[in-house]
Amino acid sequence: MNYQYSAQFAAEMDAKDPLARFRDQFLFPKVQDKQAIYFCGNSLGLQPKSVKNYLTQELDNWANLGVDGHFHGEDAWYYARKKSKPALAEIVGAQEHEVVAMNNLSVNLHLLMVSFYQPTAERYKIIVEAGAFPSDQYMLETQVKFHGFDPEKAIIELTPREGEHTLRTEDILAEIKEQGDALALVNMAGLQYYSGQVFDMKAITSAAHAVGAYAGFDLAHAVGNAVLDLHDWGVDFATWCSYKYLNSGPGNVSGIFVHERFAERPDLPRFAGWWGHDEGQRFLMEKGFAPMYGADGWQLSNSDVLGLAAHQASLDIFLEAGMKNLRQKSEVLTGYLEFLIEEISGESGVLEIITPKDPAQRGCQLSLHIHRGGKDVFDEWYNHGVVGDWRNPNVIRLAPTPLYNSFMDVFRFAEILEHSLKKFA
Ligand SMILES: *Cc1c(COP(=O)(O)O)cnc(C)c1O
Repeated sequence: MNYQYSAQFAAEMDAKDPLARFRDQFLFPKVQDKQAIYFCGNSLGLQPKSVKNYLTQELDNWANLGVDGHFHGEDAWYYARKKSKPALAEIVGAQEHEVVAMNNLSVNLHLLMVSFYQPTAERYKIIVEAGAFPSDQYMLETQVKFHGFDPEKAIIELTPREGEHTLRTEDILAEIKEQGDALALVNMAGLQYYSGQVFDMKAITSAAHAVGAYAGFDLAHAVGNAVLDLHDWGVDFATWCSYKYLNSGPGNVSGIFVHERFAERPDLPRFAGWWGHDEGQRFLMEKGFAPMYGADGWQLSNSDVLGLAAHQASLDIFLEAGMKNLRQKSEVLTGYLEFLIEEISGESGVLEIITPKDPAQRGCQLSLHIHRGGKDVFDEWYNHGVVGDWRNPNVIRLAPTPLYNSFMDVFRFAEILEHSLKKFA
């Protein structure tokens, strides 16, 4: 791609972008009285305009049907779990029975650990990338302690080589092999929130299985962003949230993936609730938990119908746009951002992109190490309408999403960047 630093080039790219029409289906906030250049879908995706109608529909069902809404009407709440499956399956590369929307992300991590972390005196270690998202760190620490092990000994944190910002696949695989029979689980991010690196989930899963360990991934930043093929990669389990790239609203429902090979494993330890129990028998109110087939068997509570309605509004947009098309645009859009940052900030010494250059090892996000100016750089950009985010100690994350960001957004950011460098260079 021959990128150019010009408004005309950006306008031409937008004019021939087959996904450009989706931008108008989202609501953009204002910051500092300007329409935002919104590069923060990695933290909270924008609201689809259709969300209001999807919510109104369920509010009407509730108003008109009351408790009968559970079993009446075409959207009977009793079966609410089914609706999101086709879209979730496409987005994460799964069979429909391998996915279900439920709970929140950290809760689901714990529930999946109940099934997939059953340490013994010999096999009790967990491999994770160093600097994992705090919730994941707390989850691992407390799971390990819950089983009576010492987090210092049980949790193996992988750090990049001296002078490098991201992990090399060969080093991850070597550590898995090295831990061998002591390794119970690899539990990493799919896309690392701080560096923006996408890990080779397929290779990691194979390596974990080769030593008799499970492989599970936190896909908070990968879902709706990177192309995922969880079923074919043989991943054991995964979970994600829906409010980042999946644009489903603050704190909205999470989703899980459990590979088909565990679909009929009632013997697998789990914490159960009535919504995971055989749907046909549920209202017999009898003793004896009989899990539903597939991921559904991990549900505990009845579905959050209003949350799922907002979720569905966004998922329907994903289905229409198609993950492969989105990813195609995303590589070019993020490539344009990378080109402009390098072109403009070049040798200034103010910042450095730490996200891998290889498109296969990243999603839409670029992480910038700020070497000079610190958080003032971020504030300066924000004052000009750029919404990214600042992560301590010194990273700004910018995530142009292919659904609602344009090449013109990226160009406008570049102008702001150029202007700001006069202050910090
Ligand atoms: C966003 C994020 C979370 C948030 O967890 P919640 O339970 O949804 O609050 C957890 N882990 C990772 C890796 C995240 O990026």
